[in-house]
Amino acid sequence: MSKKDYYEILGVNSDASEDEIKKAYRKLAMKHHPDRNPDNPAAEGKFKEAKEAYEVLSDAQKRAAYDQYGHAGVDPQAGFGGGQGFGGGNFADAFGGIFDEIFGNRGGGHGGRGNVYRGADLRYNLEITLEQAAKGTETKIRIPAMETCEVCRGTGAKPGSQPAVCPTCGGSGQIRLQQGFFSIQQTCHKCHGTGRFISDPCSACHGAGRVKQHKTLAVKIPAGVDEGDRIRLSGEGEHGVNGGPPGDLYVQVHLKPHPVFSRDHNDLHCEMPISFTTAALGGEIEIPTLDGAASLKIPPETQTDRTFRLRGKGVKGVRNHIHGDLLCRVVVETPVRLTDRQKELLRELETISSDRDGKHHPRAQSWMDKVKDFFGN
Ligand SMILES: [Zn+2]
Ligand SMILES: [Zn+2]
Repeated sequence: MSKKDYYEILGVNSDASEDEIKKAYRKLAMKHHPDRNPDNPAAEGKFKEAKEAYEVLSDAQKRAAYDQYGHAGVDPQAGFGGGQGFGGGNFADAFGGIFDEIFGNRGGGHGGRGNVYRGADLRYNLEITLEQAAKGTETKIRIPAMETCEVCRGTGAKPGSQPAVCPTCGGSGQIRLQQGFFSIQQTCHKCHGTGRFISDPCSACHGAGRVKQHKTLAVKIPAGVDEGDRIRLSGEGEHGVNGGPPGDLYVQVHLKPHPVFSRDHNDLHCEMPISFTTAALGGEIEIPTLDGAASLKIPPETQTDRTFRLRGKGVKGVRNHIHGDLLCRVVVETPVRLTDRQKELLRELETISSDRDGKHHPRAQSWMDKVKDFFGN
């Protein structure tokens, strides 16, 4: 599950003007503002989403980065070379650009031996079920990775030959340009800062010293993780350059939609239809929880939308180890496909419940009173 497109969130075209973006955001912010939608996590989510999208698209610099690299260009969590996960398999597209862009200018020179770069951090988007998130799980992921080329052992030179010292920079990876009084230091354009020049490149890696491969990693997901949580696998990112340390791999957790429950931090929410009779007379119903079925007592005269809280039946948080609750909202279901006999009984019920003083239907009565007041009767 990748993040939604910012333009899509705001409902504007990718060439929208600053003004259009501002207007679209204001409209959404007004509609989904928490003050206007109390206790509505869906609206709150939409509000935050719109805010995030606006923060990026209203800033010309961030917008340009977003247009070029997508979320990886603006997401501070994406680390140096983070991207959108590897699902599509376009590893080079997702990471190559950013890697070159950022790492091309990073790292200090190591006199005469070229620049040493730390490998890029990577992000892997992992989708798991709500049950797996609640109980914890172990899974294997297959990720693309740049590994040392076995043919040239990482030198980039054809076996039998050696990389030479770069003639342009003399191996420092940097060149000094004199411009008037100023001297400017730049990364050497011939060797791109490596300090080496390969006249006879290795045919397996085309002189890069590294090749794209896949590796399989075991990932332990602790119980209680939530949407967006990240698990860091230290040193499992991309290899460093010229002996630099490897980056880290961040496994970012995403929860698949659940057929019964929705999750809000450690609380779970569900909706249970109950019959008109159970709602009126009370009774006991069976409800699902993550630990199996539980029974819930419905008191007589229960109205639709009433929410029952089952303490401790939510998810146990991964950090605070506090058990959330299960909040079960009941909805009274109007019976359908009634037989003649059932209809007859309901009509009889209606007749004997005829309600002039609102004894049986206080809500309808109070509504009627308000309507009468409104018409000045
Ligand atoms: Zn090679
Ligand atoms: Zn050079």
